[in-house]
Amino acid sequence: MSEAVENQETQKDPETHERASGKVATDDKAEASQPAPKKNGGAEARAERAPATAEGMAAVLERMRKKNVSAGAPDYDARMKNLDKLERSILKHKEGIVRAISTDFGNRSRHETLLAEVLTTLNGIKHTRAHLHEWMEPEPRETWWAALPARCEILKQPLGVVGVIAPWNYPVNLALAPLVYALAAGNRVMIKPSELTPKTAEIIDTIVRDAFAEDEVAVFNGGFEVGVAFSKLPFDHLLFTGSTSVGKIIMRAAAENLVPVTLELGGKSPAIVSENYSLKAAAEKIMRGKLFNAGQTCIAPDYVFLPKGRVEAFVEECKAAVAAMYPTLADNPDYTSIVNGRHYDRLAKYLADAEDKGAKIVELNPAKEELSAESRKMIPRIVLGATDAMTVMEDEIFGPILPVHGYGSMEEAIEYVNSHPRPLALYYFDNDDSRVQEVLTKTTSGGACVNDTLLHFAQEDMPFGGVGPSGMGQYHGREGFETFTKKKGVLYQSRFSGVKAIAAPYKGTIDMGLRLLVGK
Ligand code: NAD
Repeated sequence: MSEAVENQETQKDPETHERASGKVATDDKAEASQPAPKKNGGAEARAERAPATAEGMAAVLERMRKKNVSAGAPDYDARMKNLDKLERSILKHKEGIVRAISTDFGNRSRHETLLAEVLTTLNGIKHTRAHLHEWMEPEPRETWWAALPARCEILKQPLGVVGVIAPWNYPVNLALAPLVYALAAGNRVMIKPSELTPKTAEIIDTIVRDAFAEDEVAVFNGGFEVGVAFSKLPFDHLLFTGSTSVGKIIMRAAAENLVPVTLELGGKSPAIVSENYSLKAAAEKIMRGKLFNAGQTCIAPDYVFLPKGRVEAFVEECKAAVAAMYPTLADNPDYTSIVNGRHYDRLAKYLADAEDKGAKIVELNPAKEELSAESRKMIPRIVLGATDAMTVMEDEIFGPILPVHGYGSMEEAIEYVNSHPRPLALYYFDNDDSRVQEVLTKTTSGGACVNDTLLHFAQEDMPFGGVGPSGMGQYHGREGFETFTKKKGVLYQSRFSGVKAIAAPYKGTIDMGLRLLVGK
């Protein structure tokens, strides 16, 4: 009996029934219903695990590989069980996630954490559970007539061991959403969270340990050197989420072992507003996308283009939109801090550089507050008159700063986007369908959202990924399953095969047949 099957039989688990009946235990209640942790249990458990060293991680990878061979690919039931276990563990630690991320950031809105880390990851699990059976099915493919009555189909196999490297900005979702799809595809997984969010990295480790054995899923935490060693491991696939510059380093490291990579990178995502679209609606939607997580979002609208004559009115609408969303900033628990001093200084430098070079900075500060640098909460700002010579238009902003440009014609805005690196997202605001289609076909971006921001990320049935400098490959939905799956083309020969007729020695009707098919 394979281990996967064995596992299913030994775990006639009541929790699966709980889920089916909608009675999933959550956080505090679940924590209370768990057996009391052993004193020092965390530390003991930690000691049993492999260290986050090059040797320790290589040893776990090797154990996972061996287990893949001895246990075979997990079947549908075993994969569903893995998804259930992950779901339960996330729910159990929901409050821990909220606390950890807020500690790491200084302040992270509880609502943003529940929406963007917990709910999105659980939605990925739900969507996967609903479709896994269909995704795993072999796909019949057309057979070349000359090979008939042979039959062709694609078999879906796990790749083996998948590595996941995650960034700090949505540290839970970007570590666990790839895990969902890698597990659904039947893989074992090693995860390297960001060292910039250490408390969250710990909770990710706890979530994983509560649900999985070390040879199923393992988390490796530590400093920069852990990431470097991790990226050099000979995985069967490596998914990296992070900056474009580090993406290049990761791809070089992976190339040494010919490890295929999915790179989920960043970039400058434009928002373009058309001539007739409501400025109030555009400002609300753009500021909502910009200020979620204080702009520290890979798909945050980075800068805006709108008709020249509408810039001033748009700035006023942005002020009103911010005042409605965040009447105050300093003590508002829903306004998130910048993750650390280095990033806070980086953003302050963009503003200083822009001002030095002649740009006008407009503060969106409804209660006219002073925000201490210590709190790392940053006043949202619009930059008018920004040029490509300013760092704010060179680098991905990743903070609450929004350059706003006026265009003379839509062509000008499209030309600007097309003459810059391909963005991860593009936002277009217009109610005219034909112009919408024109902008979508004339520009290339990882994804796009028409008349809103960010929401395309949360659609589990759509692939998510960049293009060119904003990334390669994709995950979420069926494409997520396929990213971590080997699609193996198999031909099943028939005992009535006539293929001998086209094999050596070439005599009889073959010459006539070839003349017919490819000419004299
Ligand atoms: P980063 O590239 O600095 O780090 C990402 C991860 O790589 C971290 O775990 C880090 O420890 C590790 N790392 C850093 N240097 C490394 C090296 N030399 N070798 C091996 N590993 C290394 O990115 P970040 O600052 O954590 O995240 C912000 C960036 O991520 C932004 O550019 C953002 O746009 C991008 N991002 C992209 C997506 C997406 O889905 N496309 C999502 C979130 C963030």
